[in-house]
Amino acid sequence: TLVPLPPAPEGPLQRPSALASFEDVGALEEAEAMRRDFVANVSHELRTPLTALMGFIETLRSSARDDPAARDRFLSIMEREAARMNRLVGDLLSLSRVESEERVRPTTQVDLSLVLRSVVQNLGQVAEDSGVALIREGEEGALTVRGDPDQLTQVFSNLVENAVKYGGQGGEVRIRIGAIAHEPVLRGAAYKIDVIDKGEGIDPQHLPRLTERFYRVDTHRSREKGGTGLGLAIVKHIVARHRGRFRIQSEQGKGSCFSVILPAG
Ligand code: ADP
Repeated sequence: TLVPLPPAPEGPLQRPSALASFEDVGALEEAEAMRRDFVANVSHELRTPLTALMGFIETLRSSARDDPAARDRFLSIMEREAARMNRLVGDLLSLSRVESEERVRPTTQVDLSLVLRSVVQNLGQVAEDSGVALIREGEEGALTVRGDPDQLTQVFSNLVENAVKYGGQGGEVRIRIGAIAHEPVLRGAAYKIDVIDKGEGIDPQHLPRLTERFYRVDTHRSREKGGTGLGLAIVKHIVARHRGRFRIQSEQGKGSCFSVILPAG
């Protein structure tokens, strides 16, 4: 692509700025391509349940009209598809909100212990229904970070839900919290929260891409389990907003560990 450049710089001192504007256009093009991909993905993800809904409406109008059993079955499927669209729209809104706020660091004092306790409580039933024990371990007492309590709750809900959904075969999910006196990258005290499952693990080739929007190891399985493909993208952005770190480790056949490190304070 030919990119119009500003008038030729005079003198060596101005050269770097002309160069920078050229690079910026490259970045803009890349951002534009990503946006197009994203819109295409969203449209596809919305169209799938919509097509199903429209098909069932048609069937209800015609053949199933006088068959109460079939009607009930179709209505249940329609309900499930509508719920899927609702989750997708909810996740899209969360993602766009976090992205727009990413430069604004949240300042509320949040007690991580309380956040984790409420996540375990909220997901207790879901885990139990899947035959998974949720185990909280590690530091007790107040563990304070600066953050957005709702967003932090969402981070750990997404991770624990995934661990139950995809790693539940191991029968247990551990939520471990530890204090780090000096975290080298964050250059200060921090808390590390690990969400550990003993499921089948993830092939290493997928690890670097898991936080991309709509990236799934197995699309069919994710859809079947009600996933939107946005959970880990949301986690990544929220952790970034909190100036924290996010790391995924996994060993096939043994399980996975999703770690969030947040600056203490
Ligand atoms: P989804 O809505 O599909 O769950 P996520 O962004 O939350 O989307 O996760 C992306 C993909 O990462 C999932 O589809 C799944 O393949 C994989 N994944 C996430 N957590 C785990 C886990 N604990 N064990 C195995 N695979 C996982």
